[in-house]
Amino acid sequence: MKELTKSLGMEGAAAVTVNSDGVIYSCYTFINNKNFEMGYINEKQLSNKFHNVQLTFLNNTKSNNPICSKCDIVGICKACPGMMYSRSEILNDPIPLQCEYYVGIKEGILLGVLESSTDSALWKKLIEGISSSNKLFLKACDLFSSRIRLLDKHGGFNLFL
Ligand code: SF4
Repeated sequence: MKELTKSLGMEGAAAVTVNSDGVIYSCYTFINNKNFEMGYINEKQLSNKFHNVQLTFLNNTKSNNPICSKCDIVGICKACPGMMYSRSEILNDPIPLQCEYYVGIKEGILLGVLESSTDSALWKKLIEGISSSNKLFLKACDLFSSRIRLLDKHGGFNLFL
């Protein structure tokens, strides 16, 4: 799991997408892209294609990217390789506007925590908020415990490995 957290995304490694025609993709953002086909749902064994695509994503680490490796939020960034690919056909090509957005969110959270730490009423609210969102998160985990999330009208689904 440590390796997965270093990768730019979990596509093809911790989750895959199965299209309505049975073709497996590393992620729904790559549906109909031959480069990211991983085989068919009814195959008895995982194909070489499956492992090759999986390796592509596992090796797509932020620490190997010259821009990301110097970024302050590299350890917690959730930037999507699918979005990067749809923009430049490169899996590890940070999108400046998206990076500013992600960094801005983290800065906003840190500022909020800092401000709350000097006000006991605000601090109490913050702790209560974290605790209730944890409960919501656990509920969501229960919902997904079947490990299958239905996708949209196309009839495909995401499978969490
Ligand atoms: S915010 Fe941008 S530069 Fe920083 S780690 Fe994420 S993708 Fe890379």
